[in-house]
Amino acid sequence: VHRSTVRVARDVLDANATIARANRADFDRAGVRVVNLMSAPGAGKTMLLERVLAEGLREVRPGVLEGDVRGSYDAERLAALHLPVAQLNTDPGFGGECHLDANMVRSALSALPLEEIDLLVIENVGNLVCPAEFRVGEDARVMVSSVAEGDDKPLKYPLMFRACELVVINKIDLLEHVDFDLDKYLYHLDRVHPGVEHMVVSARTGEGVDALGDWLEACAQRALVLDR
Ligand code: MG
Ligand code: ZN
Repeated sequence: VHRSTVRVARDVLDANATIARANRADFDRAGVRVVNLMSAPGAGKTMLLERVLAEGLREVRPGVLEGDVRGSYDAERLAALHLPVAQLNTDPGFGGECHLDANMVRSALSALPLEEIDLLVIENVGNLVCPAEFRVGEDARVMVSSVAEGDDKPLKYPLMFRACELVVINKIDLLEHVDFDLDKYLYHLDRVHPGVEHMVVSARTGEGVDALGDWLEACAQRALVLDR
């Protein structure tokens, strides 16, 4: 029983990888670079995106695919910025999954005007576990981790912290109110994913947000040479 369970899990991930490659080919054809944005619920992905996209990317036309179990609250917030936004819910038809997979993303592609987008940000469902296992056709993966979650998180969710090219430490404005030791966090992070890039930001005050905008723009331009 144990062995066949492992086998099924591997088949699911193999099937996902095949669809992710098809998504990737479609994105490449349309000249779209894709970032998979992941975090725990409440880390501030949407607010951070609102802030970055409101300040504007200089060279790059953004679009957003908003993943949530249910509802379109976050998509509506981003649509107010007058950029292409599509909502992808995992509740109807996908069993309320706690992550996005390549097939779900594929089902939503027709809702986005890819020819008008240079950088597509896919905001994943808030979850620190399975989003790390499912590629969706992205060029890069960014995870947001807030100081309110505690400085032990890289040790507790190593797969997620290993699966990303950038760790964004958000809510730095709360630092004096929470028990979060930034040096300890960075020490843990470096043990789990040596050398991974990180930045410290506050979506609330705007601190560090322009650096994230620069990173996203650079990503859209260098993505072609990233390891796929
Ligand atoms: Mg959100
Ligand atoms: Zn899941």
